Amino acid sequence: MSAFTCSNCGFKGQSDDSTFSDTVLCPQCSYLVPLNTDPPLSPKQTASAKNAAETPKSTVRGIVVLALLYTVFLAFLPLAYIYGQTGTPLCLLAFAIYLVIGTVGGFLFLTGMNDPAYLTNWLRLPFKRSTATYAFLPLFVLGLLIAYFTYSP
Ligand SMILES: [Zn+2]
Repeated sequence: MSAFTCSNCGFKGQSDDSTFSDTVLCPQCSYLVPLNTDPPLSPKQTASAKNAAETPKSTVRGIVVLALLYTVFLAFLPLAYIYGQTGTPLCLLAFAIYLVIGTVGGFLFLTGMNDPAYLTNWLRLPFKRSTATYAFLPLFVLGLLIAYFTYSP
């Protein structure tokens, strides 16, 4: 990231270094602002290179969230099957778990349909509407269906 100041409206912002462009479009007034090109290996660029190197590490969050959701989903299937509709505490536990998974899956699915960029930023995984559908629609639908069939009043 390198800082720039729009000479047209005075907007102060940061450019995305990944574009390798020597101009940046002002987000406020759409004026094309020329960037000051730093000499190579300046401290600023070293820092941004370090950030770029750390980027793959931060995708761990999205993978952990997805892995956790699917692991819990699969791990409690036997419990839901065995204790489903028995009215025992384990039946209620399975109901609660699948209700939560269905709700979380539904929330993330609808977020992905509405604004995939939000999901990408939050989970730090590159989501599109299609990948959000594959990842979260099964959790949403199956989680709520299993919760429905597990529950016994
Ligand atoms: Zn501007």
